[in-house]
Amino acid sequence: MPLQRFRPKSGSCKLCQGNLELSISAAEQTPNECPRCGQEIESSPNLTASPAKIIKKPSISDAKAAGFKVLKKIGKGEYESQ
Ligand SMILES: [Zn+2]
Repeated sequence: MPLQRFRPKSGSCKLCQGNLELSISAAEQTPNECPRCGQEIESSPNLTASPAKIIKKPSISDAKAAGFKVLKKIGKGEYESQ
């Protein structure tokens, strides 16, 4: 069953944190109120684009600057420090 995201129209809800995930079957009608708090809700497709995805992957130099040991793959299961 696909999960669909909803949020209360008021924008905040202490019970569902303003972010609901409900499984909606094809036969079922889209719910229009929060099953937990009874507030009116609307589907919220935008929430799938979470801000975490915008953060860029750190480069090797960034990792080194942050003090991480960067390993280079030199063969099957073998790694050496760069
Ligand atoms: Zn709620």
